[in-house]
Amino acid sequence: MISIELGCDLMGRKTIGTCELCSRQQVETTIHHLTPKEVGGTFMPTAQLCIPCHKQIHNLYTNDELGVRLNTIEGLKQNEKIRRFIKWIRKQPSSKLVKTKKSNERKSKKI
Ligand SMILES: [Zn+2]
Ligand SMILES: [Zn+2]
Repeated sequence: MISIELGCDLMGRKTIGTCELCSRQQVETTIHHLTPKEVGGTFMPTAQLCIPCHKQIHNLYTNDELGVRLNTIEGLKQNEKIRRFIKWIRKQPSSKLVKTKKSNERKSKKI
């Protein structure tokens, strides 16, 4: 198991769902610790974020910033830096993340 310096398991378990930050649906999401584990957030609330949003958060902010100022989804959404990113990512189709394209459009799989 490789645990990366970010604290969050960006490469870890992925589920298909709605990103709590950009609100895109049917995207792969990972668990973001709103308060990074490094600063005591192991048992604190988490959020489901799509991978681009999640990466962006950790690129923009340090664990200290996240733990102190940006430990809620609302707080993040109000932050200018990530807001610009959300505006952009919202225009990106979630299907971009789909690796295999099959002509069969119907999805019978339910998780
Ligand atoms: Zn997102
Ligand atoms: Zn995270």
